[in-house]
Amino acid sequence: MKARKTGSGTRDLIRPDLLQLAGYTAVDPVERLVKDGNMGQPGIESRPTVKLDANENPYGPSPRVLKAIAGSSALHVYPDAEQQNLRTALGDYVGLGAEHIVVGNGSDDILDLITRLTLEPGDRVINCTPTFGMYKFVTEVSGGVLVEVPRSDHYGLDLDAIEKSIDDRTKIVFIASPNNPTGNTSSQDEIVRLLETGLAVVVDEAYFEFSGQTMASLVPDYDNLMVVRTFSKWAGLAGVRVGYGIFSPRIAGYINQIKQPYNVSVFAQMAALESLADRDYLMANVKAIIRERERLFGEIERLDFLRPMPSEGNYILCDVTRGDAGRLYERLKERRVFVRYYDRPNLRNCIRISVGKPEDTEALLEALRAVGEENDAK
Ligand code: PMP
Repeated sequence: MKARKTGSGTRDLIRPDLLQLAGYTAVDPVERLVKDGNMGQPGIESRPTVKLDANENPYGPSPRVLKAIAGSSALHVYPDAEQQNLRTALGDYVGLGAEHIVVGNGSDDILDLITRLTLEPGDRVINCTPTFGMYKFVTEVSGGVLVEVPRSDHYGLDLDAIEKSIDDRTKIVFIASPNNPTGNTSSQDEIVRLLETGLAVVVDEAYFEFSGQTMASLVPDYDNLMVVRTFSKWAGLAGVRVGYGIFSPRIAGYINQIKQPYNVSVFAQMAALESLADRDYLMANVKAIIRERERLFGEIERLDFLRPMPSEGNYILCDVTRGDAGRLYERLKERRVFVRYYDRPNLRNCIRISVGKPEDTEALLEALRAVGEENDAK
């Protein structure tokens, strides 16, 4: 048999629906941002970078994690494909048994496994925008069709519109609570109303430890409820990649069957276990971030060109009420302060600021005030 030639013929090998896919836009590594930024401001080169663009935890992991990884001697051995110790520890943490738990290479992996388990080509998925970009990405990579149901004025769910948009091809509704980037949560009543539709209701609780609100206790009552969480935010493990889902034992069983056996590395399993064992230390950092979020909120409110949105996560969405959000992002970047900005339907002229340490807040405020004064002088 002849091999196919590369070139124009290669296109035939690719799924037609993937040829159009835009892909997921991840944040740039900070070294690249620093290189790209105009560092022409005098004295800026020597300043530390202030990374407030990816909702990371500025306190990093527990010292127990670093010690365990440094002392690890089993790197030539494959990790436990069933992640039994970690699933048992997570079962205790969540208050349900290990049979409810699936562990992944970050919670993104769990979101991907959910769409791969449930979607057939052309099945529909409801996305309540503005929200986390990964739902669109995993839906489309799995051959699903995204149906956007915009959130209402204050970014609450529009339940009537969601129910109206359901047809016999609709399989999933994704709800982030707290929602990224808006910071607001959805109530148990709202989630129960969605569960009653019979769709797979994915409640993404990436920021659970900051909000203290969870739907996990409903999992034994609703087979269609899928709760997704991560160690990236509260436990400072974004770079290690470990997340998990809480499902009915039947769904968890199927997902554990279709996942890559070694999707969670030896390091990641070890880091997650040590984090759970050092919960008090990590939760003290979470509390410090919540305190800092409230202080930052008050400080932003005093600026006359930003309007902050109350948040239950480790970030604050701000309307840019004077000037252009993209321009503000660039001006902050010149001062080595990195945030996210948005300008798209449902999310016009906004920036999202992750909550850092007190010194990050100070550097951010100094940069915001300087940029504000420059604008006033014009
Ligand atoms: N869900 C939400 C709502 C998020 O904001 C994020 C990270 N930005 C994730 C999931 C992904 O987290 P992980 O690092 O576990 O993949």
